[in-house]
Order: sequence, then structure tokens, then C-alpha cells
Amino acid sequence: MQDYKMLIGGDWVSAVAGETFESINPYTGAAWARIPRGRREDADKAVRAALVAGADPAWAKITATARGHLLRRFGDLIAQNAERLADTEVRDNGKLRSEMLSQVKYVPQWFYYYAGLADKLQGAVIPIDKPNTFNFTRLEPLGVCVAITAWNSPLLLAAYKLAPGLAAGNTFVLKPSEFTSASALELGALAEEAGLPPGVLNVVTGFGAEIGEALVTHPDVAKIAFTGSEAGGQRVYEAAARGLKRVTLELGGKSPNIVFADAKLDNAVKGVIGGILSATGQTCVAGSRLLVQRSIHDAFLERVVAFARSARIGDPMERTTQIGPVTTKPQYEKILHYIDVAKQEGARCVLGGEPAPHPAGGSGLFVQPTIFADVRNTMRIAREEVFGPVLAVIPFEDEAEAVAIANDSSYGLAAGVWTQDTSRVLRMAEALKTGMVWVNMYRAVSYMSPFGGVKRSGLGHENGMEAIKDYVQTKSVWISTAEETPDPFVLG
Ligand code: NAD
Repeated sequence: MQDYKMLIGGDWVSAVAGETFESINPYTGAAWARIPRGRREDADKAVRAALVAGADPAWAKITATARGHLLRRFGDLIAQNAERLADTEVRDNGKLRSEMLSQVKYVPQWFYYYAGLADKLQGAVIPIDKPNTFNFTRLEPLGVCVAITAWNSPLLLAAYKLAPGLAAGNTFVLKPSEFTSASALELGALAEEAGLPPGVLNVVTGFGAEIGEALVTHPDVAKIAFTGSEAGGQRVYEAAARGLKRVTLELGGKSPNIVFADAKLDNAVKGVIGGILSATGQTCVAGSRLLVQRSIHDAFLERVVAFARSARIGDPMERTTQIGPVTTKPQYEKILHYIDVAKQEGARCVLGGEPAPHPAGGSGLFVQPTIFADVRNTMRIAREEVFGPVLAVIPFEDEAEAVAIANDSSYGLAAGVWTQDTSRVLRMAEALKTGMVWVNMYRAVSYMSPFGGVKRSGLGHENGMEAIKDYVQTKSVWISTAEETPDPFVLG
């Protein structure tokens, strides 16, 4: 067992009450780390440390260029430690090592990109409509930001928030998911090593209903950047509203992957499989609704089923494994529950539909890749997020029907379109009510490109140039150059 401590104000500390909880390796089913169980008093300490650090000249008065240097060094250290951090993430969330390593190796790019933007954030001189008056704007940091992340991509989701927020001069309290706390704590150590002043990045651990709630309701927190479930996001939004805090919400989805008859079907099969089976279906952008044009429906479905059937379930540390365990017990139960619901609703199970046997050496929680055909878009399996390797297949007649089915969802995170018709590409890109559309590809992200959902998939965007604007507030400064102050009873 490895013992972890929290990072608050530059000190590595246990929870005030001395409580801990265990982190379970989803593949072996065994506890491997002891994590501090923070509560309100720990949240308070961390927010105070972030507040103090935000006012300290060591952070508040360094130049934006110097902040950029610090972030670049932070990125370098993440790159140098990528293998270890990826191993930690796999031990915690059971996702494939190949996937976690490529994610962690990509994380430094967020810090490099926003390091470059740090000293390009600038206000404006306004050609104001008043004589003898000089007016300009300053873009100032918000103050203490809270970053709360889900368990599926712990460091990547943290980077989405920390990189722009730190580049803009804010300070942070990062709270990772209680299922995957370790990599965030290791990240905290690298922030220290990079030279971020104490308290600029604090990392606390514990449960959403305990330290999470305490953070989002804390009066000294200016912004909450949250990635997680719709229910969690609603609670965070309510708390943010009461406290008039800024908020970014990256929530769930029920994303359609739409295959037209004219698509390159070999590619589409791979895109559909990648969309639903990668990360054992535990991605917010999972293409969990497969919409297939009726003229190719049966043949295409057969190919998808054959490919999915061949997927190798196993140890996520092995290079050859394609499907790892489900990360958490509640998630495992939720997936099996939805499989039952789909069967009861009359969807036709054409693959899987059961727990999968443990691969040799693993005693964690495995589910067979599962495909339901004859799904109607009104069924729960087509409307609610499963967050597992479960695909709902829905036929459509023509483009108009594809759009209607795709948009008939309370979610709006992402969509995939497979076609060779370029006019249709542009029509679909416009018609789909989602934050992201991938055409003849699926599940790509970049630090450069805005990421975020509409409708119940979230509020605001992460990544790209715009994201840094969510971490600053504008101040308008007025200066009179007049010799005399005008009539005080008339608005100037
Ligand atoms: P979750 O909502 O249970 O937990 C997410 C985080 O929020 C955890 O750190 C948790 O401790 C914290 N939390 C929960 N309730 C809280 C509260 N009331 N106050 C403060 N913090 C609270 O979600 P999860 O099960 O960890 O993650 C899976 C969900 O995340 C899925 O719905 C998935 O689609 C979504 N997700 C979205 C994105 C995206 O970018 N859109 C990315 C990854 C995951």
C-alpha cells in the first residue's frame, strides 16, 4: 500500500480529521493506495492557502512571461514523468496503459500552449467618446479557482483547467475524483518541483459530497471548473448560483455516430468501434448511439458486431489488451442495469449483454462489449448515458431523419458523421446540435480546439484560445486629463 498526502500551501498533509480511504485497482480488485479523506476544514485550509498565494508578490507580481516560463517547466516535468504518471492512472482507473500513456504524454502540450498565451492576454485602449478622458481595460485573474475532475482521464481533465487558469494568474484547488486521486497528488509534487510558489496549486482529496461540496460552496472561491456527471454538475451549478461564482461544466453525453450509405465503410466500422469500446466506453464523448442508413443497416451492423466480438478483454497493462475492466463497482452495476433495461424495453441484443469472465490474473469488473439493435430513440438505452461498452443501433432513412434522431436528445456533446459527400458534411456540421462534430473521424481532442457541450452536456468550453478568457475578468479604468472636473450633477 502506498500512502499519499494532500498538498496545501506547499505542505504535504493528512486530512485534519486524520481519515483516509482506499484506492482500488480495478483490474486486480485490490486496494493499492491510502488517500486522505478531506472534509470542510481541509477545503477551508486549501482555499485559504490559494487566497494567500494569489496575493503574494511571488505569484501576483511576477510578469506574465515569467508565469509562462513556470508553466513550461511544469510541462517538461510532466513529460519526463509520463510513464510513472500513466502507471499510476492505470492502477487507479484500469484504462489501457497505451491510452493513458499517450494521454499523459499529450498533457504537457496544454501547459506549453497556455504558457505561450500568458503574456498575450491584453486589455485594450478604448477610443472613448469623452473629451480629455483616457479609458483602458485590464484583464485580471479571477482569484481562487476550484478544479473538480472525473475518474476517466484524471490528468488530462485537470490540464484542461489548470493550464489556462494558471497562465491567467489564478490560483487553484484541484480535487480529483475519489476513485483516481493519486495522479493529481503526484502532479502537485511536479508543480512544486517546477517552482510554482506554495499555495498556487493545492491538491486535496476526498468525496464529492464532503470536500467537493465544501469547495464549491466556499465564499472565497471565484470559479469552479467541473468535469463529471450531469447530477454532479447540477449540484455544482446550484452552489455556484447561490455564491454568484463563475462556472464551467463538462458533463455527459449520448453522442450519435451517424453512418451514411456512401461512407467508406471500413473506416466507419473502426470509428464506431473506437467511439464505443475505447476506454471500455467510459468516455464522455462515447458514440453510444449508432445511427445507420437503412440501406446498409444489416450488412454494416454485421461488420460492427464481428469487430466488437474480436476485441480482446484483459489486463490493461498488456499491450495487446483492447478492453479493460470497468473502473468502479457503481459504474459496473449501472452498466448491467442499463443492459437489463434495454432488454426489457425490447431492444434486440446482438452481442454480449452479460458480465465478462475475469481474464487470467484479474479479479476486477468486466462487461462484454454489448450491442443492441432495433433500438428506438425513445428507449432509455438511447436517451440516458450508460458510460460503458454498450452500443444502441438505430436505423434511419435519409439525412433529414438522421438529423432529427441525432438532435432528439437532452444531451449535445459530440457527433460523428461518416459520408463522402462534402455538401452533406457541411449541412450536417450546421444541423447537429452538439458542441463538437467529427467527420470521417471520431474522438479527437486538442489543446487548440474548443471542447464542450450544449444542452445538458454542459456550459462553456475548455481548450483553445477562448478558454483562457474564462479565467480573467475585465476591469475598465478611467483617467481624466482635464484641468477641471465638470458639473458634478450631470453624468459624465
Ligand atoms: P461525478 O459527477 O460522480 O464526479 C465527478 C467529480 O465531481 C468527482 O471529483 C466528484 O468527487 C465530484 N463531485 C460529485 N458531486 C459533487 C458535488 N456535489 N460537489 C462537488 N463535487 C462533486 O462523475 P464521475 O462518475 O466521476 O464521472 C463520469 C461522468 O463524467 C460521466 O457523466 C461523463 O460523461 C462525465 N465526463 C465528462 C467529460 C467532459 O469533458 N464533458 C469528460 C469526462 C467525463
